[in-house]
Amino acid sequence: MKAAVLREFNSVPGLEERAEPVPGAGEVVIRQKYTGICYRDILTLKGRFPRTRLPVVPGHEVAGTVVSIGEGVESVSPGDRVASLIYVPCGVCRFCTGGRENLCRSKVTLGEGADGSYAPLVRTHQRSLVRVPPSVDEESAVISACVTGMIIQALKGRGRLSEGETVLVTGAGGGAGSHAVQIAKALGAKVIAATGSSWKEEGIYALGADSVVANRSLSGKVKELTGGEGADVAVDTVGGPTFREALKSMNFGGRLVVIGNVDSATVDLPLGYMILKGLELIGSVSSTRKNVAEALEMAGTGRIRAVVDRKIGLGSVGSAYADMEKRSTFGRVLIDLSAGQ
Ligand SMILES: [Zn+2]
Ligand SMILES: [Zn+2]
Repeated sequence: MKAAVLREFNSVPGLEERAEPVPGAGEVVIRQKYTGICYRDILTLKGRFPRTRLPVVPGHEVAGTVVSIGEGVESVSPGDRVASLIYVPCGVCRFCTGGRENLCRSKVTLGEGADGSYAPLVRTHQRSLVRVPPSVDEESAVISACVTGMIIQALKGRGRLSEGETVLVTGAGGGAGSHAVQIAKALGAKVIAATGSSWKEEGIYALGADSVVANRSLSGKVKELTGGEGADVAVDTVGGPTFREALKSMNFGGRLVVIGNVDSATVDLPLGYMILKGLELIGSVSSTRKNVAEALEMAGTGRIRAVVDRKIGLGSVGSAYADMEKRSTFGRVLIDLSAGQ
């Protein structure tokens, strides 16, 4: 099969002929129609994740149909539609047995510690799988672990969002942000969306945002829109460039959930301000199988939809990375793996 392979850091993965993966004990091989291109992929190829083993097939956004199963696989059969977590959890640690497998320290991330999804066939483990209901389209299934499930972990799990609260989403036109707007709205929040790209405003309103504001000086706008109070929960998908304004936008008792770190910048934390406002600064990583199942349920019942910028061939990932770094994409770029296979 044709796969994109990363051979050295700071290069673009190139197309190569690869042997089709064979499932080992507990593993399955999935045939994918699409995979997503994630900002994490760009950081992976810059060498930011120390557990990456080269050469590797990048990509971690996996859904499709099971084509073969290894010894001991009982939860799924060939022909079943599944989505996979972006990692394989160990299954035995206290995080894995307690339903917080996203915190497993022995997890192996697809596309980094093992071959990933930039190929029509991908191998993962049964411990990573969630069944995809028939009403869910392929686009929504493939983003259910790294995008929509990850946002559910951030908003519900970590941000403890309650109905009626105000949510601020930064980077609202991006792959994560465009879905965070929809999910916050579906969970009953008032949504203020911030973007650095004014041309995305109309599209963000169409996703259900109550207000769209510019990244620059967003705290003033958030205060204005909330009668001086501020946001109860913020999902910062950007990191360094928006963090300070996001922090200044928080209401008393606010929870600022950090899920994106585009430039690996460090930030100043005004501790007195944190204390006096009773703020929480919370990191949130990836998703659990429970989050993915909920994301799929929300997609299957039409409460959220996949926002797809465009679908490209496996040989065009380099230009997609460049567009994502320039913020000229709206939503997720998908790779169509069925083309020419
Ligand atoms: Zn991803
Ligand atoms: Zn574990």
